[in-house]
Amino acid sequence: MDILFFFVHGLLFGSFLNAWIWRTRSGKPIWKGRSMCPKCSNTLTWKENIPLVSFVWLRGRCLTCQDTISIQYPLVELAMACLFAFSAWFHAGYILLAFRDAFILFFLTFVFVYDTLYQEIWDRMTTYPAFALLIPTALLGWHSGMSITVGIVVGAGFFLLQYLVSKGKWIGGGDIRLGMFMGVILGWPLILVALFFAYVGGTLFVLPFLMLGKKHMATRVPFGAYLTVGTVIAMFYGMQIVSWYVGLIS
Ligand SMILES: [Zn+2]
Repeated sequence: MDILFFFVHGLLFGSFLNAWIWRTRSGKPIWKGRSMCPKCSNTLTWKENIPLVSFVWLRGRCLTCQDTISIQYPLVELAMACLFAFSAWFHAGYILLAFRDAFILFFLTFVFVYDTLYQEIWDRMTTYPAFALLIPTALLGWHSGMSITVGIVVGAGFFLLQYLVSKGKWIGGGDIRLGMFMGVILGWPLILVALFFAYVGGTLFVLPFLMLGKKHMATRVPFGAYLTVGTVIAMFYGMQIVSWYVGLIS
């Protein structure tokens, strides 16, 4: 029952996320006005605005102008729904933790989609949720004060160092703030697991381009997207990975 509840809300939040990104890019207010077709500006009826269902029903085309709707919309909605449902399944019965992770997953997905589309990390999507998460994390003891502090210092410091060394050429300030958010989410030592997977993923993606001599493609890696994926892996399976690794070396 919880899983279905989270799945349906994931669809709704995914739809909201799409609208939020589009409105941000086109400079429109988020809370005002009805949803409309980005191509012909026709206001959508409720039948055209049901997450996922409408896309299938309309066969991916706008009813008014017949222009194709980007596959991004149903994909983000479905991904958000699956992530929310996964969170409910993973924390079976611990509804507060399921809500916490759904909250985190929403913002990580936002960063992922936005960075993939525009190679940019939108700071408000990392600093605000980081501060919002800090309070219940401290009150409810999700991480110890020490774990959080070290997590933030490592997460933000790791990128700050690269930023200073490269004078802002390798990475932007957005990565530093995302590193801080990751520190709040994961604490120590899970922050290391996230960084590890982000680098492995990013490198695997870049290598073929470098070998083919397509350097300009390699520099267009949305690294923030890899960081969010690494964070999600570490969130749910970080502890298992750490204890497996410790068992391996000891
Ligand atoms: Zn249209």
